[in-house]
Amino acid sequence: MFSFEIFPPKKDGSIEAVYKTLDGLTDLKPDFISVTYGAGGNTPAGCSTREIVCIIKEKYHTESIAHLTCVNSTREDIDRVIGEFESCGIENVLALRGDINPDIPPREDFKHASELISYMKQRSGLSFSGACYPEGHTEAKSLEEDIENLKKKVDAGAEHLISQLFFDNHHFYEFLDKARAAGINVPIEAGIMPCVNANQIQRMVTMCGASLPPKFTKIMARFESNPEAMRDAGIAYAIDQIIDLAANGVDGIHLYTMNNPYVARKISKSVESVLLG
Ligand code: FAD
Repeated sequence: MFSFEIFPPKKDGSIEAVYKTLDGLTDLKPDFISVTYGAGGNTPAGCSTREIVCIIKEKYHTESIAHLTCVNSTREDIDRVIGEFESCGIENVLALRGDINPDIPPREDFKHASELISYMKQRSGLSFSGACYPEGHTEAKSLEEDIENLKKKVDAGAEHLISQLFFDNHHFYEFLDKARAAGINVPIEAGIMPCVNANQIQRMVTMCGASLPPKFTKIMARFESNPEAMRDAGIAYAIDQIIDLAANGVDGIHLYTMNNPYVARKISKSVESVLLG
């Protein structure tokens, strides 16, 4: 399995930017493209997660997954979303809790992604994926505790998992062993983020808690002030990670494209035969 993640344009973006990204990705024939969901819903007209998923399916004839968070939603909100999804033919949802904003108290209706999946499963024919964390979720006391909670998500109906980004494959292999030992048997895609911009990566890493191996920090230190070299080194690092993951027989690769088709194409073309082999 090989898939991409994109995000809707920011407030001042446009649908043309979405088309440009999709024009550069869909001919690579990914198994699906997932579209992130911003809890604020702060996207330009016509560019919501739902609308982009519909474009991917209808105009590009490519499978798609809509991300959906529940931390700020009531049951009524989710009922409305189910109606909207079903009316435009969306079949797949990456069900998430979402990050808790310290300034906005979370709603009480759904405390975890597993509760969102159980609720939606009773009320729809949708298929569900869930998020997983090779180094443990930042709020979990340990990887083991996080995996116990992940099992609840799978038991609730998640049929497929996509991992948080990581830069050291050993974390993914250790996580995979523990997840399988805990009885989690659904396909688990490895999330790979090409590091093409040092600032962007620092921000992501602070948010998600992924650790940076020395090989990686050396690349950042050496090339961060040379954008072209940083981009090429980031692409090469991601390719290296993917080849190792493929050689170890992982279920799939999910590429965080950051809406950058150039980088996604370079990587995809380089690993095409590896992923098929
Ligand atoms: P949960 O599965 O609810 O887990 C959150 C925490 O609660 C973990 O520490 C877990 O161990 C614990 N937990 C889970 N279940 C239980 C339980 N039953 N009892 C006790 N503890 C429990 N965010 C967005 O806002 N929009 C996106 O589009 C988006 N896409 C993402 C895609 C991927 C692949 C990943 C990995 C993350 C994404 N995120 C996104 C970020 C995500 O919303 C955050 O990581 C969030 O903090 C946790 O979401 P979750 O669905 O994993 O939560």
